[in-house]
Amino acid sequence: MNLLNIKDLNKNFKQENENQLEVLKNINLKIKEKEFISFIGPSGCGKSTLLNILAGLIPASSGQVMLKNKLIQNPGNDRVMVFQEAALFPWLTVIENVLFGLKIKNIDKKKAYQKALDQLEAVQLKNFKDSYPHQLSGGMKQRVAIARALVIDPEILLMDEPFGALDEQTRLMLHHQLIKLWQDTEKTIVFVTHNIREAVKLSDRIIVFGSNPGRIVEEFKIDIPQPRDRENPTLVRIENKI
Ligand code: ADP
Ligand code: MG
Repeated sequence: MNLLNIKDLNKNFKQENENQLEVLKNINLKIKEKEFISFIGPSGCGKSTLLNILAGLIPASSGQVMLKNKLIQNPGNDRVMVFQEAALFPWLTVIENVLFGLKIKNIDKKKAYQKALDQLEAVQLKNFKDSYPHQLSGGMKQRVAIARALVIDPEILLMDEPFGALDEQTRLMLHHQLIKLWQDTEKTIVFVTHNIREAVKLSDRIIVFGSNPGRIVEEFKIDIPQPRDRENPTLVRIENKI
């Protein structure tokens, strides 16, 4: 079943000289429930802008995004974003950072604490619950950011180059954890990356964007042998719009 339906979406930004910068042009895309989909493409092709629109943080100039039968116009608990920089609050401990995500949900304190703790366990950071962000490595901070996102139980996780700033070894470990989290939680994940190998390894489908203006130029699906062996995927072109 389709979870997100992006229809005839365009986005322009007004420039200082009053001209319009066409950032996204005629984007049409359906994203299925529980799908892991990656967006790749050159810098400036509008990947982050599209994620921001999906998050409801900025409006489209025209066209629409439907989440099931609902028009996306504002941020909501059903969608949550993870950025390249973990953006943790430095004055809060790890568990307080995760709890912060739950504040908006208005749930019982004890229940919230247990939820946060469970989520930290899922990213293997339970033992660091009382540490402060500056005491953690980059990879650990990003795992806290993922826990903070997942604790509110969104339908969709929007990830904007989440591992871009990490070293190769940390990235490989986080791939492993993310795949496990994705399989355990059955979330829909929209993942932006510059790293084609990362996209092939993690995704069900890859959407390739071109720039000036940003548009979809190619689409690939990833065939993963059963039982799901993500170390040996095959890339299959399903559409070439060039
Ligand atoms: P990507 O994430 O693919 O690198 P972005 O979505 O960040 O690309 O940016 C796409 C284009 O839109 C760039 O040319 C960028 O300068 C421009 N842009 C992004 N946000 C704004 C904004 N708030 N105002 C004006 N231009 C913007
Ligand atoms: Mg970007």
